[in-house]
Amino acid sequence: MTLQEMDLTYVLPTYARNYVHFVRGENSMLFDEEGNDYVDFGSGIAVCSVGHGNPRLAEAICDQAKRLIHTSNLYLIEPQARLAKRLAELSGYDIQTFFANSGAEANEGAIKIARRYGEVEGEVKRYKIITLEHSFHGRTITALKATGQEAMHTYFGPFPDGFVYARDIANIYDLIDDHTVAVMIELVQGEGGVQPMDRDEVQQLAEELKRRDILLIVDEVQTGIYRTGELLASNLYGITPDIITLAKGLGGGVPIGAIMTTHKGILKAGDHGSTFGGNFLSTRAALEVLDILEGHKDSGELDHMLLLFEERLKRFVTEYPDLFEKEVGTGFMRGLRVREGKDAGDIIKAAFEQRLVVLKAGKNTVRFLPVLTITKEEMELGFARFKAALDTL
Ligand SMILES: *Cc1c(COP(=O)(O)O)cnc(C)c1O
Repeated sequence: MTLQEMDLTYVLPTYARNYVHFVRGENSMLFDEEGNDYVDFGSGIAVCSVGHGNPRLAEAICDQAKRLIHTSNLYLIEPQARLAKRLAELSGYDIQTFFANSGAEANEGAIKIARRYGEVEGEVKRYKIITLEHSFHGRTITALKATGQEAMHTYFGPFPDGFVYARDIANIYDLIDDHTVAVMIELVQGEGGVQPMDRDEVQQLAEELKRRDILLIVDEVQTGIYRTGELLASNLYGITPDIITLAKGLGGGVPIGAIMTTHKGILKAGDHGSTFGGNFLSTRAALEVLDILEGHKDSGELDHMLLLFEERLKRFVTEYPDLFEKEVGTGFMRGLRVREGKDAGDIIKAAFEQRLVVLKAGKNTVRFLPVLTITKEEMELGFARFKAALDTL
């Protein structure tokens, strides 16, 4: 039985898999079992923030695994405490953090905090959460319901009540009523098409919500951990949300999620928990990731590469006006919006044939999420392959 047959026979078919078999990686490069090299402009969907095979991350994980991997949250966990402190210091926010294992689980926790905030004795219960159309918040039943894409609500119901979807930020105000307790948004919609929100609109929204005592939850599962060039997109947008969720890039591939909030007193002992959340292994990995990326940012290298990447990507719009309408996104969360009548899927397939990994996002967008430690050589090799791919179309 081949591995592919094994996968097809024994793994639930929830993914339309490409059966390339990667066995090793080095920063932006992936190698298949025949030794072919691929340039990875997807980083495992914004997860491998410090690149593949990062020796510092590998060393930290290995060292921690030999000491302790897990003891449960019933006892003190040194790297968890240190990681929470680092997140507060690096973000500049006066926050406490709860650690989970994924983006969906982090968002579930954020929703619980908001719901709990809306339950004040003697007052009308506030439970409604407004999210945006084209958003993506995860795959659990509640996170799925929070996701503003009706196509994803076809099955699996009944869903929990209390989610309404705004067309855009301006429309959020129209949906607020006496039961509204929170608004949850991505500052750059990832799955929805690499769509950044307008900075002024977001700042106004944050102010208005604060005035009305409605919580602002920012889902930074994809935008967080320097993906936009700053630790958090919230830093870039100059806002202080009530709750921020993280996951993808935080552990460099080790599963970890985080819920950070300025409201330290809402959840009490027993209100929330997670068996694996925040264990020694994942928090130690995340500490090392933050160390690596903070150094990368401080050296100027991150910002330098961001600018080069953006500049190079924009050139494709001028060079291939029949294919691309415009360049979208921010930082290392970028996309090329494909013209009507053309298919982003064809471009991604052609790129893969040139051994370049790029992703798709909603709204017919070719999505670029390189590892944050990408080098100039890797970038140039990737774009040369992209050009070769476009020339075959
Ligand atoms: C990926 C993603 C999620 C879901 O994260 P999982 O770890 O897959 O549960 C939630 N929100 C956003 C913005 C995401 O990009």
